[in-house]
Amino acid sequence: MICTTVKNGMDCTFMTKSGCGYTGGSCLPVVERCAGCQRTLDLAAGKYCTSYPNPSSKWKTGNCNFATHVKMETQAGQQKVNPLKASKRASKKK
Ligand code: SF4
Repeated sequence: MICTTVKNGMDCTFMTKSGCGYTGGSCLPVVERCAGCQRTLDLAAGKYCTSYPNPSSKWKTGNCNFATHVKMETQAGQQKVNPLKASKRASKKK
């Protein structure tokens, strides 16, 4: 449904006929760590995220997985090794 609160005019899954169904009745503004993300939206009421109603919750357990300004660091060379497969590979080489 179309939002009639902070993201007025935007389609939102939380919007219902009786108003915003998100906790507290509206989206929460972005947090400091969202600065630079392309998903931030500059509205009259402040800066909000286009993807999440509560951006601070996305940063609680690490980086926001939708952040456009954070590069996910992959640890090259540190692949998980299945001990069974490694054992088979080792035995084939002999
Ligand atoms: S996608 Fe993540 S980092 Fe970007 S504005 Fe939303 S919550 Fe913040």
